[in-house]
Amino acid sequence: MVASAPLPGSSDASLAETPIENLVIVGSGPAGYTAAIYAARANLAPLLITGFQRGGIPGGQLMTTTHVENYPGFPDGILGPELMDRCKAQALRWGTKLVEADAESLDLSAHPYRLVTSEGETIVTHAVILATGASANRLGINQEERFWSRGISACAICDGATPQFRKEQLAVVGGGDSACEEAVYLTKYGSQVHLIVRSDTLRASAAMADRVLANPAIRVHWNREVLEALGEDWLRAIRLRDRSTGATEELDVRGLFYAIGHTPNTDLVKGQLELDERGYLVTRTGRPETSLEGVFAAGDVADSEWRQGITAAGSGCQAALAAERWLSHHQLARPVERQSIEPELAGETQPTATSDADNFDAATLWQKGGYALRKLYHDSNKPLLVVYTSPSCGPCHVLKPQLKRVLNELEGRALGVEIDIEADQEIAQQAGVTGTPTVQLFFNKELQQQWQGVKQRSEFKTAIEALGAPRP
Ligand code: NDP
Repeated sequence: MVASAPLPGSSDASLAETPIENLVIVGSGPAGYTAAIYAARANLAPLLITGFQRGGIPGGQLMTTTHVENYPGFPDGILGPELMDRCKAQALRWGTKLVEADAESLDLSAHPYRLVTSEGETIVTHAVILATGASANRLGINQEERFWSRGISACAICDGATPQFRKEQLAVVGGGDSACEEAVYLTKYGSQVHLIVRSDTLRASAAMADRVLANPAIRVHWNREVLEALGEDWLRAIRLRDRSTGATEELDVRGLFYAIGHTPNTDLVKGQLELDERGYLVTRTGRPETSLEGVFAAGDVADSEWRQGITAAGSGCQAALAAERWLSHHQLARPVERQSIEPELAGETQPTATSDADNFDAATLWQKGGYALRKLYHDSNKPLLVVYTSPSCGPCHVLKPQLKRVLNELEGRALGVEIDIEADQEIAQQAGVTGTPTVQLFFNKELQQQWQGVKQRSEFKTAIEALGAPRP
C-alpha cells in the first residue's frame, strides 16, 4: 500500500507554449485501450502512446497468442490480435488520439508531467496512466545470441510456421499457460514437441495442462533445465540437465521456444515511482493510484499475480475512472466537445484478397500472394516491399498497416506484396525466411535490404527513397 505524495512543483517555463493534455496513457494492451475507451467517453480526449519496440509490440502480449478462450463475450474464443484490433477501433471511435511511437522518457519531477516520444515529440500532461505491461524473458543460455532467430525464438506463434521448423523436433521451455499454449500450437508444424519444465508440476491452468498431457505429440521433460544451444548455422540440439540427478543429455531439436514468463516494463519510471522488489509498480491495494498524485497504473505492469487479459482490461477501466475523478477534483480536466453524440460505427475491416490472373493490377499499392509477387518482381520497375507473414502472427498485424502507410505516403513510387508463408511455403523457403514478419526490399530484381520483426515506418521509407525511384 502506498500513500500518494503531494503534487510536485510546476514544470519549467519553456513548456508554457505546449498544450497540456488531460490524460496520457502509455501502452496499448487491453489495459491501455480499456482506459482509453473510458477516458474518451468521458470527453477527456486521452492521448495513447502505443509503444512500438520497447517492451514488446503494440497491442501487448495478446498479440502473440492464438485463441483467447476465456475473455467473456466470445463463446468460441477470439484470436488475440483480433481482440486487440477491436479494442483499438473502439478507443479510436470515441476520440482517443493515438501516437504510434515509444515513450522514450517520462519526467514526473514537476507537474504537469512531461513525456518525450521516440519521434522526439514532447507531450505535457496533467495525468498519466501507465499500462506498459511486461516483456518476455530470455533464458540467457550459452550460445543464445548465436542461434537467436536461427532456431531460438521468444514467439512460437510468430515463428512456428517458418519452413525450418516443419516436421522437425521442437522444444518449448516453461510450465505456464504460455508454454502449454505454444507447445500445442507447435504440434501443427513440428514432428514432436518437447516441453521442458524445470519442476515436477505445470503452473498452467488445469484446462491447458490437461490439453498438453493428453497430446501424444507432446513429450514433457520434468525437472530439466536448458544449459546450452548447439549447432552450426542453425540450432541442432540443446543440452539439458536433470535437476534431481545432475545428469546431462543432448536433445536433438531444430527449434527452441521460450515461454518463461515476463518482466514488468517499468524502466520509464525507475527512481520516480515506488516499485516492488521484482520491479512491479506498487499501487494502493485494489486501487490504481501509484506513489505519485495523478499517476495511475493498469494491467500487468502493476500485477504480478492475476495477469489476465480481462483483469488488465478491468484495471484499465479503474485507472481511467480514478484519473477522471482526480482531474475533476483538482479542476484540471478540460473536457472536449464531441463532434457528434453518436460517433460513426467502427465497422469491420476487410482482408486483402489474394491476387490472381483476374484481379491482379500492376498499379495497386498493396497485393497479396505468389502471383502478384512473380508479376511485380519480373515486370515492375518500382521498388517492391515484400512482407512475409503467418496467419496468427500478431507482430505482422502491427507491421502491415505501417507498410501500407509508407506506400501511401510514397504515392505509387513503390509497391507492396504480402506473402502468407503458410499458403506459399515454397516462396518462403526460397526467400530464406526464418521468422515472421520478415520484409525484403527488391529493386531491379535485386534484394536491397531485409528486416525482421516490427520496425519504425521511417526505416522503410528512407530505404525506398534512397533507391531514387522516380515518381509515377
Ligand atoms: P508464468 O509466469 O505463468 O509461467 C512462467 C513459467 O516459466 C513457469 O512455469 C516457470 O516455472 C517457468 N520459468 C520461469 N523462469 C524459468 C527459467 N529460467 N527456466 C525454466 N523455466 C522457467 O508465465 P506465462 O507467460 O505462462 O503466463 C503469464 C500470465 O498470462 C499467466 O497469468 C497466465 O495464466 C496468462 N496466460 C493466459 C493464457 C490464456 O488464458 N489463453 C495464455 C498465456 C498466458 P515455475 O513454474 O517453476 O516457476
